[in-house]
Amino acid sequence: MAKLCLVSLGYATGKDQSPEKILSGMNAHSSYNNGLKHRKGYEDHARLDNHLSCCIEVTARVSAEQRRGCACARAAPAQSARRPPRAIMETSLLREFPLLLPQNLQKTVYEGFISAQGRDFSARCVMVHTVQLKNARLHCSWQLKAILSRYQHIIQQRMQHSPDLVSFMVELKMILEAALKNKQELHAPPPPQYYSGLLQELGTLGWDKLVYMESSFSTLKLKAKDTSGREHLITLRLKAKYPAEPPDCVVDFPVPFPVSWTPQSSLGSIHSQFLAALDSLKAFWDVMDEIDEKTWVLEPEKPTRSATARRIALGSNTSIYIEVDPRHPTMLPECSFLGADHVVKPLGIKLSKNIHLWDPGNTVLQNLKEVLEVDFPARAVLEQSDFTMDCGICYAYQLDGVIPNQVCDSPQCGQPFHQLCLYEWLRGLLTSRQSFNTIFGECPYCSKPITLKMSGRKP
Ligand SMILES: [Zn+2]
Ligand SMILES: [Zn+2]
Repeated sequence: MAKLCLVSLGYATGKDQSPEKILSGMNAHSSYNNGLKHRKGYEDHARLDNHLSCCIEVTARVSAEQRRGCACARAAPAQSARRPPRAIMETSLLREFPLLLPQNLQKTVYEGFISAQGRDFSARCVMVHTVQLKNARLHCSWQLKAILSRYQHIIQQRMQHSPDLVSFMVELKMILEAALKNKQELHAPPPPQYYSGLLQELGTLGWDKLVYMESSFSTLKLKAKDTSGREHLITLRLKAKYPAEPPDCVVDFPVPFPVSWTPQSSLGSIHSQFLAALDSLKAFWDVMDEIDEKTWVLEPEKPTRSATARRIALGSNTSIYIEVDPRHPTMLPECSFLGADHVVKPLGIKLSKNIHLWDPGNTVLQNLKEVLEVDFPARAVLEQSDFTMDCGICYAYQLDGVIPNQVCDSPQCGQPFHQLCLYEWLRGLLTSRQSFNTIFGECPYCSKPITLKMSGRKP
């Protein structure tokens, strides 16, 4: 067999989801057997499975026997008593899935193809036990993974409850058939009016506003400028029933963008709603742009239009973290400081002492300068390395996108650390002690006492 490109789907555990709902589109015969399978025990199941495979063959032949009611039900119990369940399982697996073969002597790894609707999909099943599927893993090719992506929960659930591989594979095949059927319906091409209507709408809106159009005409991007001259994009995903159904809109906004839509609406109406939303956010972006232009923003490195928070450098190893309310951008934002106590404490005192000076008529940056009585280091004059230092434990600046946010409070030291690095370090020291979410220990640099408060939120 050729080397397969397999991608892990990771079906191992999952919450329950009603299988009836998803299986409803499948044929009655399968659903009937499925229902029986869930109710009965293993012995019964093995018999039933035999019966099921038998029935499938009979159905294919459309014999008179089948019309009278399958006779094999009576014969099956005797057969299952003669042969061990595993052998029965292997026989029916080979019959149902001739392209799926064991890869080791223990028969815990099966690899090959599952066929559905005339197509073969490569898959691999790795089991922990020889018969049971508990903790088994199913690896699928990327095509199969994409088709089954919406059915992960049910597959996980069936894997947990199937008594053996063959009954799971039968269910997986049914799910796959249903998924393929749904996919075809979803990808049915829209009627010709869809295209002519869309082109007409674009003509009315103005082709200059179109930035991108996908080859299938289902995704497009439009641009618009706010009154400060910033360019913004809106991505529209049109459904086949457009304009009866509203398109999905994706924007880079700090607030939700709900679109009001009627069947008479058009691209023009979305564009004007987009412009109105840009207008309402203009003040917010003015405030953020001033901060990004005139100060050293340490985080995020490349702020998006939806980012409401900034960590701004104040000096060596000192910074302020602000979170601006996009609806009230010139009001006092949420603030917290990062740095050694002897630097940060006076800033906190100034903030509370001068808070009455905050003027919502001015921008956040102007107000911060006024209230904190500081000048922010400007981007033009300084290098980032002038006021940022790597973590004293891992010697890196960024750790999983996080910058050092803990500082030794000793005025002579002031060494910054990542919260995680410091936590691991202090946990390893016998002299450290923990009280609730706070750890007391010694600075790895100057051995002076250091306190670490663990929190999920950025300090
Ligand atoms: Zn570190
Ligand atoms: Zn220190």
